[in-house]
Amino acid sequence: MFRIGIGYDIHKKSINRPLYLGGLKISEKNGLLGHSDADIIIHTICDSILGALSKGDIGEHFSDKDIKNKNKRSEYFLKKIMKIMKKDSFEIINLDSTLICEKPRLSRYKNKIRKNIAKILGIKVDAVSVKATSSESLGIIGEDRAMACKTIILLKKNEKN
Ligand code: ZN
Repeated sequence: MFRIGIGYDIHKKSINRPLYLGGLKISEKNGLLGHSDADIIIHTICDSILGALSKGDIGEHFSDKDIKNKNKRSEYFLKKIMKIMKKDSFEIINLDSTLICEKPRLSRYKNKIRKNIAKILGIKVDAVSVKATSSESLGIIGEDRAMACKTIILLKKNEKN
């Protein structure tokens, strides 16, 4: 049995916060505002897995009102969600993420990010796609005041014999 899920997220940019993408620190400044480390790619992966499982969203599992989740690295949330997925006997077949931002240009980091996501998820690098697009100077993303991300994922249930 296969299940697909989608995740969407948007965060405001913040000059004084580090930028985390796909579990990696990309820069010390020009990061994203958020309760956790605001790793927008990891957040959409979390939501895509939960979506495929019909198990709510990241905010239901890890409230931004909960002090415990403040400044947490998002890998922590993803690892907890993977436990839920594995308990239901699902594995990841592949995922495809698209980051929408003006800066930084991601071509330099895309492969590093793919490798790191594959490592966190324990899957092959060729099962992880990370793409980037700009917003052509349009709207809040085009003005470099926010960053958005979308991830789609395919899960497969391993039936017990
Ligand atoms: Zn988020």
